[in-house]
Amino acid sequence: ASSFVPLQNPKESEISDDDEPPALSPSDFEPSCSTNNPQPQQAGSSSTLVASENTSVRSANALLENPEGRNHPTFYLRSRSAAINTAALKDDVYESLDYDVCDNVLFKEEQKRTDNARFNIKKDILRWIIFIQIGVVTALIACVIDIPIEELSAVKYTFLKDSVDNNVAVNLNPNGNLVIPYLYWILMSIIPVILGAALVTYVEPITAGSGMPQVKSYLNGVKIPRIVRIKTLAVKAVGVVTAVVGGLVGGKEGPMAHAGAVVAAGISQGKSTTFVKDFRVFRAFRDDHEKRDFVLGGAAAGVAAAFGSPIGGMLFSLEEAASFWNQNLIWRTLVASIISSFTLNIVLSAYHGLHNFTFTGLFNLGKFEQPLKFEYFELPIFMLFGVTGGLLGAMWNSYNTHINRFRARFVKFKFARIIEAALVAIIGVTLACIMIFFINDCRPLGNDPTDYPVQLFCEDNEYNAMAALWFQTPEATVRSLFHDPPGSHKILTLTVFTLVYFFLACITFGLNVSLGIFIPTGLVGAAWGRLVAMIIFYIFPEATFLNPGKYALIGAAANLGGVLRMTISLSVILMETTGAETSFFFPLIVTLISAKWVGDYFTEGIYDIQIKMSCVPVLPWELLPKYKGHKASQLMSSPVICIKKIDSAKYIYKILRRCKHNGFPVVEDVEGNNRENGRVCGIVLRSQLIVILLNALYEEKKRFWEKEISIETFRNVYPRYPSIDSVRLPNEKQNYTVNLEIFMNPSPVRVSECDSASKIFKKFRALGLRHMIVINRENRVVGIITRKDFLYK
Ligand code: ATP
Repeated sequence: ASSFVPLQNPKESEISDDDEPPALSPSDFEPSCSTNNPQPQQAGSSSTLVASENTSVRSANALLENPEGRNHPTFYLRSRSAAINTAALKDDVYESLDYDVCDNVLFKEEQKRTDNARFNIKKDILRWIIFIQIGVVTALIACVIDIPIEELSAVKYTFLKDSVDNNVAVNLNPNGNLVIPYLYWILMSIIPVILGAALVTYVEPITAGSGMPQVKSYLNGVKIPRIVRIKTLAVKAVGVVTAVVGGLVGGKEGPMAHAGAVVAAGISQGKSTTFVKDFRVFRAFRDDHEKRDFVLGGAAAGVAAAFGSPIGGMLFSLEEAASFWNQNLIWRTLVASIISSFTLNIVLSAYHGLHNFTFTGLFNLGKFEQPLKFEYFELPIFMLFGVTGGLLGAMWNSYNTHINRFRARFVKFKFARIIEAALVAIIGVTLACIMIFFINDCRPLGNDPTDYPVQLFCEDNEYNAMAALWFQTPEATVRSLFHDPPGSHKILTLTVFTLVYFFLACITFGLNVSLGIFIPTGLVGAAWGRLVAMIIFYIFPEATFLNPGKYALIGAAANLGGVLRMTISLSVILMETTGAETSFFFPLIVTLISAKWVGDYFTEGIYDIQIKMSCVPVLPWELLPKYKGHKASQLMSSPVICIKKIDSAKYIYKILRRCKHNGFPVVEDVEGNNRENGRVCGIVLRSQLIVILLNALYEEKKRFWEKEISIETFRNVYPRYPSIDSVRLPNEKQNYTVNLEIFMNPSPVRVSECDSASKIFKKFRALGLRHMIVINRENRVVGIITRKDFLYK
């Protein structure tokens, strides 16, 4: 954590309503909050960042005033934007979501109108309908991603196999010329990769990576700009297809969680801001609180479709993403997950000829023919696998972080990021070709279920086992490692393959392409798991319990646990996708927990590392140790910019222009103009104030709007509230007043200045708050606390 210096707010006198009328051009206002902010030290992890104060402050302010966030450095790119001052970003760029319901007069009026059993049942039914729709649409999107990947990969690998057979096979060309297939392979890799990277870089940079850190941050309460837009979904879908077809080391499973989240956010709001279309349905769900629950269901449905694991999907959301949870939500999330995996099964089975319903998920690990059994003396071996997975995972996370820091410093231009992605694709193909060329691992045909057996330098009726590992999608390779019969690979083949894949995964995760981390991580684990089993069997040939498939599964679990640090959901996902017996849950959980504990000792999970590198103010589960023993007064910011219950339009306009804060305590019983010491009677949000000014809801004009005003006035502009730039305050309106009585939230969470930091943190987190007002015994404002105060103070 860094030493965070809170914003210095303008003094009351600076923004007194007795000032000259504010100029109306935005450029006349120099934002005073952020520019007064002293330069904080960089976080330990950001020590390499070279900050340019002016640039950073300007960019942070510009971003905040831009509700579209068009010039917003992306979440993902943030981790690379070393030249941007992280402190300014921390201050302003990431805003919080309002999970606390604003129960103002308008909201209560609506409640009164609709507080009857019929309406509540209708709302509940609508909720269920939305969750079911989320499941169906997420599955359809999974099919739209999966089918092109399967078809295009089939074309690619058939062509490459033919090319290798024609150019290299012994009987045709005894000298073996791999150059032509190599060139074809490179071409067929870099074209889709460049296309995908260009889309991500130029059209929607937020789609880079797996999307899980973004979804996790959103569900924690941080607004990540553009994360749940339709455009984001479209780019993500095309991006994943191109990256996987291009042969980059990654999978489509992680991005599915993000896709599900976007689907959920879109369907539940009944409108599309992108297409300027309001279907006038589901209006009651247009607030952050409701939307969050749907997004959670969407993420679970995405994972369920990806792995064909409904319970795993729900647990994944619970373990990885959800910060807030309740019983009803568990039900709905589970239903969305089940519907999603069921729909996917029907559609993919229909596509593949309706022989049987076996396509439960995109990631099909194949079922083990024999039930997986284990002996109790194997448990220490599983634990050792877990420890190794934890060590390797921590090592991988650390290398990947270093590589991404390097990227942040040296790969700054957009075209450079595209070239970088193409280069990594070329490196992958080159290493694969070198391995295929030099490692002579010939196996009899018919022994291996590979779809594209390549003869290469092998005799007739033989195929090259190394080429078989590369000439298929990574999912298919994991499947091979789990199910290939014993003796399908040489020890050398798997050793080199593990090392190369570990390295490739490390340099790939962080490229500007849409790709998940699950498959490469599982693949590396499966490879070394199988390898260890082979080595032990080589040393102790009588050890018949050493089923290489079983140890590949344990290795995959260990590696996944070491990198991702998930335990419950991962074990259930692995069991559901392999059809392992419930009794095998024990070895899996032993392995995963060992991996997590060992990994946690060295580094955080890769998603958390990414979130930290991006300076997203995500609240941890527990208060940071450095604040233990602190009091509210040590965390809060003061003086606080407050607004009187009846205040002048001019003052409100001015504070909105001059400060970037999103919440202002509403006070009464004020002495003179010294609002700071008023008694708290509510809190009002920046977005509400802007809507009030835009709609000219002045007290003096009450007769014109009193009858029309309702909570809908505010809901209609949700979630893209206009910025203060869109407000014009002509001279004649400057002396009008705004009465906040019906707009403000009259019951903000208040704490005493002596309350302990750990107590208020629990309250803040449990209620999903955005602001907490610190008061003295007389209910007068003494300070304010936001999520950033729990992280950077
Ligand atoms: P968020 O960004 O979480 O949506 P916010 O924009 O209102 O909320 P922050 O950006 O988190 O607030 O606040 C940055 C700093 O400013 C914090 O230290 C916080 O305590 C302080 N702060 C927030 N609101 C006010 C206010 N009305 N007056 C004075 N200081 C404030």
